[in-house]
This record gives sequence, C-alpha cells and structure tokens, in this order.
Amino acid sequence: MSRWKTVLWSAAGAAAAVVAGSFARRKYEESVLLLGSEFRTGEVVSRGGGYQCERCGFVLSLGAGKKLPPCPKCSHTRYLKIS
Ligand SMILES: [Zn+2]
Repeated sequence: MSRWKTVLWSAAGAAAAVVAGSFARRKYEESVLLLGSEFRTGEVVSRGGGYQCERCGFVLSLGAGKKLPPCPKCSHTRYLKIS
C-alpha cells in the first residue's frame, strides 16, 4: 500500500514540475518576444524602456505612451526593444 502512495506522490511531483516548467518557459518566451520585437517611428509604445536604432545603434529611452521619433542620430525609423 505505501508503495502506491510513493508512486502517486512522485507522479504528482512530476506533474507539478512540468506545470511549473511550462509556466516559466512561457514567461521567458513572453519577455523574449517583447524584447526582440521591432518598432517603427510614429508608433506609440505601450512599455517604457530602451529602444535601439537598427542602423546606428543609438539607444533611445522612452516612457510608456510616447511616440517613437525618427532616430536623433541618423533619422532611421526602425528600433528594437532592448530593455
Ligand atoms: Zn540611428
């Protein structure tokens, strides 16, 4: 009888580990997706942080709800979210 209990508990533990693992992975993927995404001049950013010009690497730090201007350095219009 007690052996079955052990089997049951380890199965529950494994299931919990799988759930926790996929949750952590999903959080990770979310942040990577956000950080890797591309933004263009004129877009209103929903999150503040660092936006890096794709051409010259200039880092613009922008608050949430602000519009992305053309790059101050090279007037490029595409940025990557870096922080
Ligand atoms: Zn630039």
